[in-house]
Order: sequence, then structure tokens, then C-alpha cells
Amino acid sequence: MTTVLDGNAVSEQIRETLGSCVDQLGDAGVTPGLATVLMSDDAASETYVRMKRRACDELGVESVHREIDPDAPADELFETVSALNEDPAVHGILVQMPVPDHVDRRRVLRSIAPAKDVDGFHPENVGRLVAGHPRFKPCTPHGIQKLLEVAGVDPEGTDAVVVGRSDIVGKPMVNLLIQKAPGGNATVTVCHSRTDDLASHTRRADIVIAAAGYPELVDGSMLSEGVVVIDVGVNRVDADTEKGYELVGDVEFDSAREKASVITPVPGGVGPMTITMLLYNTVRAASMLEDVEVSGLAEAAAWGDEDG
Ligand code: NDP
Repeated sequence: MTTVLDGNAVSEQIRETLGSCVDQLGDAGVTPGLATVLMSDDAASETYVRMKRRACDELGVESVHREIDPDAPADELFETVSALNEDPAVHGILVQMPVPDHVDRRRVLRSIAPAKDVDGFHPENVGRLVAGHPRFKPCTPHGIQKLLEVAGVDPEGTDAVVVGRSDIVGKPMVNLLIQKAPGGNATVTVCHSRTDDLASHTRRADIVIAAAGYPELVDGSMLSEGVVVIDVGVNRVDADTEKGYELVGDVEFDSAREKASVITPVPGGVGPMTITMLLYNTVRAASMLEDVEVSGLAEAAAWGDEDG
């Protein structure tokens, strides 16, 4: 029997817990605020920002939105972020990537106040994660940890293979899996586009986390019996549908399911968890910045979240 993990159902439960945390903050006179900054007219980026703002509204988190003309000078973005850093009503700041080529992406990440960096991409927060005392865990890998916890999959002692080494998914995922902490203690192999013979690595893994952005890269023939498969990929492929495309993951679901004990679908697996963990980080940021203790917040995190 294969368990197909329902990311929407897990998300809903976490959002219920977060709802009670928002109520407690409200009792203390605090409304958590998340600022989204968009400097792009890319349709996908607009959709992501819209989804994040809607999720805020539904939870009672104030959403502040700033849009900057993609042709405007880079300083306009930095001034906007600087003002949000100073705004006491804003507890979390997120600049939607990608930004235009004339804007230095790394400077954008550095410009956000670390205490409001709910994506967890500021070098200070990356450093804290690597050092083993994260302030904000990046949302997608944290959501994956939470899914594993809910599925009763403890990474401790397992061989885990992460396919992908990006700053937003692959690297932080590796760092969480190797932590000497609950939810970690795995032996991790990181694969990427220069890896020779990917299948030789995935075939001996107990857990495979595919985050390559390459449609159906991993199929059942590359997996061992009983493997846990987490599919992060979201790829548009041409299809005979109304929209002319469909979304597929980095895993060929049908053949992988035959081997897996646990697997996430695309869509409806990792995707919903990413926004949920963004909400979690925002509520956590509000609790820390306003110095209001909120009971139950740790339950929303993977294996409890302990650092401040
Ligand atoms: P990136 O393009 O930044 O990174 C992809 C990584 O995969 C790189 O490290 C790359 O290697 C590696 N890679 C690419 N092709 C192969 C291959 N054939 N074999 C092995 N490794 C390969 O992507 P992201 O990390 O941002 O995203 C990965 C996927 O996850 C995308 O489909 C994205 O849409 C999705 N995603 C989904 C989210 C969700 O919430 N569900 C959130 C974030 C991302 P190299 O470093 O050598 O280039």
C-alpha cells in the first residue's frame, strides 16, 4: 500500500492552528503583517503573490502590497524595502523573485531586515540554519519536513537523496536533513546537473526529494521498493487541455507510486505547504518582534520549532 500525502489536508490543519495563534496575537493588540513586493510583470510571479496575499487574508494576517515598475531604477526597490523594514505594522517581508536583471538579487536578499526575512534567504538566516539554530526555516523545505513528520517518516538514520542544489530548495533541504536535531540525522547525498548516473544514487535511497525543475526526471526504475518520494517540481508541459498545458512534477508519478511507500502528488503535495509555512514564519515573526508568547505555535512547525 502506498500512502499518497495530501498537502492540502495537512496545510488546512496547520492553518487552523495558526488561526488560533493569530487570535492570541489579536488579544494582545497585534495583527501580524506580511508585505509582498513585486517588481515584475511575469504572470507566474503575479499569481504567486496573489496566492500568498489571499492566504494572508483568509488567516487574518494583514497583507501589505507594493508594486514597482520593472523598468524603475533598482533604488526604488531598495527604498521600498527599507521603509518596510521600519514599518512596525509589517512583521514579514517578501520580495518576489525573480527581480529584473538590473537589480542585484543578492543585494535584495541582504536588504531585508533579518528579523522580518520570512523567506529565510538573508545570509544571516542562512548562516543560522547551517549553524543549527534557524530563525526562519525556508518555507518549501520546512513544509517537506512537516509532511514527513505527519507521514511518520523520521529521516534519522536513513539515506536521503536530494536532487537539486538551489538556494531556495535543495541546499536548505540538505541542511535541515543533516541537522543533529529531530527531523534531521539523515545521511544525505546531493545530486545536481553535473551528477554522473543519477539513478545509481536514487536507487539506494530511503528518501528521494526531487527538486530539479525537470519534468518526470525520476521514474520507478530509479527507485527501490518502499522508498519515500517527495516531489517538489512544478513543470508546465504541453498538453491537450483547455489551457494547452498541464503541470507535472519531477517524478513520474505512476511508475514511482508502484515502488514507493509514501509519495507526494503534483499538484496538491508540496505546493500548498510552501505558502502555509510562509504564514507560519509570519506569525512567528510577529510573535518574536512584538514579544508576545503564543501557545500552540510550535505545533505548526515540523518537529516543533525552538529557536528565536
Ligand atoms: P533551480 O532551477 O534553481 O534548481 C534546480 C536544481 O536542479 C539545480 O541545482 C540543478 O543543477 C538541478 N538539476 C537540473 N536538472 C537536473 C538533472 N537533469 N539532474 C539532476 N539535477 C538537475 O530550481 P528550484 O530549486 O527553484 O526549483 C526546483 C523545482 O521545484 C522547480 O520545478 C520549481 O518550480 C519547483 N518549486 C516548487 C515549489 C513548491 O512550493 N512546490 C517551491 C519552489 C520550487 P545545477 O545546480 O547543476 O544547475
